Amino acid sequence: MTDQPYDDETLEAARVLFARPVAFVMGAAAVAQLPGDDLPEVAFAGRSNVGKSSLINALVGQKHLARASNEPGRTRELNFFILNSALHLVDLPGYGWAKASKTTVKKFQNLGRDYLRGRANLKRAYLLIDARHGLKEVDNEPMDALDKAAVSYQIVLTKADKIKPAELEKVLAATREAIRKRPAAHPVVLATSSESGFGIPELRAEIMTTCEVRP
Ligand code: GDP
Repeated sequence: MTDQPYDDETLEAARVLFARPVAFVMGAAAVAQLPGDDLPEVAFAGRSNVGKSSLINALVGQKHLARASNEPGRTRELNFFILNSALHLVDLPGYGWAKASKTTVKKFQNLGRDYLRGRANLKRAYLLIDARHGLKEVDNEPMDALDKAAVSYQIVLTKADKIKPAELEKVLAATREAIRKRPAAHPVVLATSSESGFGIPELRAEIMTTCEVRP
């Protein structure tokens, strides 16, 4: 699945960490409203409908913590969750929602970008990409912004259950190739399915390691 294997002890520690209490902290509609930056945090970005809410819910083993971005009022904000009183998970506004997307795109550009640029405790941004589609033109803009701001980011393919393993390997290879020269992109591309749980233990381990926390 990934070329970065984790040992059993790390995977188990990550499982325990993500089973610890998690809570919604706040939704921030402006950079001035962000919570304090004393905890390490990771952020999740992606096109609307990419499976971002499902992935956050799968990570913490809950069904309704992060809500679908097509629910009115949710996409517009940066939503902060706190896990084990030790780290923040941040749900960024979706981008690239076809047609009626202008305002959503703007929100991502303004709020999302300001956040990504200026957040000292942001350890990594996870850029979610639908495994069936791979990287598209619309994904270049956030990657350009992240590269420019020198924010470490990693591509996570979602909905891996929807394609055959051989196809998944092809998309993984194409994605690795596409980001090879992007300076802030992590070279390892992860594949996940919130539906089957595929890749979720590894993503937990990745986040735990990146944030340098233990349960
Ligand atoms: P968001 O807009 O990025 O927050 O996307 P959601 O999490 O609301 O997911 C969008 C749609 O994709 C929903 O219908 C989900 O049930 C579906 N979905 C999300 N993740 C997966 C997955 O891993 N596998 C499958 N088969 N469907 C998924």
